[in-house]
Amino acid sequence: MWTTGRSIEQYICFGDAVTFDTTYKTNLYDMPFGLFVGVNNHFQSIIFGGVLMSDEKIDTFKWIFTEFSHMVGAPQPRTILTDQARAMEVAIDEVMPGTTHRWCKWHVLKKAKECLGSLLGKGSEFKQEFNKIVNHIVSVSEFEDGWSCMVQKHGPQTNAFLTQIYETRMKWAKPYSMDVFCAKMTSTQRSESANHLLKGYVPAGSPVHLFVRQYEKMQFDKDSEESYQEKRTKLGGLVLAQNLPIEIHASKIYIRTMFEKFGKMLYDGGSYVLDEVNEAGDEFKCECGMFEHFGMVCGHALKVMIQLGLEELPAKHVLKRWTRDARDILPPEFLRYQKDQGPLKYSSRRHNNLHLLCLEIVKLGDSNVDAYSITMDQLRIVKAQLEPLAVVRDGMGLSDKEIAGDSAGSAVGGKSSIFGL
Ligand SMILES: [Zn+2]
Repeated sequence: MWTTGRSIEQYICFGDAVTFDTTYKTNLYDMPFGLFVGVNNHFQSIIFGGVLMSDEKIDTFKWIFTEFSHMVGAPQPRTILTDQARAMEVAIDEVMPGTTHRWCKWHVLKKAKECLGSLLGKGSEFKQEFNKIVNHIVSVSEFEDGWSCMVQKHGPQTNAFLTQIYETRMKWAKPYSMDVFCAKMTSTQRSESANHLLKGYVPAGSPVHLFVRQYEKMQFDKDSEESYQEKRTKLGGLVLAQNLPIEIHASKIYIRTMFEKFGKMLYDGGSYVLDEVNEAGDEFKCECGMFEHFGMVCGHALKVMIQLGLEELPAKHVLKRWTRDARDILPPEFLRYQKDQGPLKYSSRRHNNLHLLCLEIVKLGDSNVDAYSITMDQLRIVKAQLEPLAVVRDGMGLSDKEIAGDSAGSAVGGKSSIFGL
């Protein structure tokens, strides 16, 4: 199993939704190759790690998921998407109890063509209905009704494939995963493209050293694509479609690719007609489930926000992983210095002086190896001297002020708007 420092950094920012698939079979000693893939804030596939597996047994998968988690040293993902291997399911249940496990729709449906045969013939009515049900329906009742109607009308009740995918629908069909965050990976063919990607780089039957070298090359190319997108965002020059305040706000917070998606949502929202909007709030829930699923507000919610005169996207509806600050992650005790936390709520001259001097020391100490080594040695001495002294608190420190201020402050409750389509 291997990963890189860069992949670990990526995982810390974007490891909330992960796909793991083993469909790429190497000819190499007949070992399957598993790939952990995610999406970054530019909506590009990113590789978290790879593993050559001796077999596909439960214990092997348990080892893989446990070891991967140690390697990246970060919390388990919110969601993991995999192919349908039963052994994997058991292993995930056991070693990742807090993670939601779903199957990639692509894996479930890839056998559809061969199993449904002529039913899926070009232009057939069954094909149209089938595609609509598996790709576009978002509510459970419509899915259930549509499915039974389709099966009755076309008579494939005895088709084993249809029965099997219907019985496992909770694991892959969209209406049953509306509240499952997956960074939109289920609805695309991302794992399939990761698989393709590997095929392009690693010829079947390559010896291990070539395999590893090509894997590194693939990682390198992915990183270059990513830095291109980072630069593209920094260059600016975004085109506003409607010049609305909420759109200007979105252009400032989102990364370019996501702002382009936002623009599409805004455009779609333009054609919706609102019946009635009554309650203003800071939380918007839409039955299309786009926000829960993807982490971006849908065109419907956006239309309501504009109608309500909102000039900014509510903070609750801006997922950090899609923003320009996605990589701005500091340990919890230093959260207050993060850009997206806004200006400091409290101030202290003592704190400011220390902060500025430390920044200067960091700059100097980073100049060369000798400067680094002296800085680290001296800072460690200062730290050791301070630790026993810092036990006594005079209440004037910034963190003490924050604690005192927050517990005396007011609690702000959020109202919410719920609306249908
Ligand atoms: Zn919606």
